[in-house]
Amino acid sequence: MDIETPPLFRSAQDKFRWDGVAHMPYKQDGSAPFRDISRQVLFHEDALGCELRYFEMDAAGYSTLERHEHMHAVMILRGHGECLLGEQVIAVKPHDLVTIPAWTWHQFRASAGEPMGFLCMVNVQRDRPQLPTEAELAAMKRNPEVAHFLES
Ligand code: MN
Repeated sequence: MDIETPPLFRSAQDKFRWDGVAHMPYKQDGSAPFRDISRQVLFHEDALGCELRYFEMDAAGYSTLERHEHMHAVMILRGHGECLLGEQVIAVKPHDLVTIPAWTWHQFRASAGEPMGFLCMVNVQRDRPQLPTEAELAAMKRNPEVAHFLES
């Protein structure tokens, strides 16, 4: 199958997989700034200028703490956890909607007890994420709620 032009209909499989969608598992090593998170690109549509991806973390897994010029539009699909959004830590549950504006530090963490998965819409053309410097991380941790999130 041509990855660039998938069929118009692709059936859902069990366990948040889809026909014809490559499952990109963890590529973590000791230095990876994320843990136990997989990625599937559900749609890559140049005509729309966007991609829709599905990310899934194992229990206690987390996404990369990062920021960038492009924004994200997120819907939680399964599980529970927390989202760091700038200075806020937000408890999230299935079907919650999260808008991540440009240049806002963000990270998702699954709760200890269950996997968490979310849809994430993003521009096809986008800048590379920035990771925090030690100084930026220290500044974030001056907010006790953020510090608790980052150290959990
Ligand atoms: Mn991001």
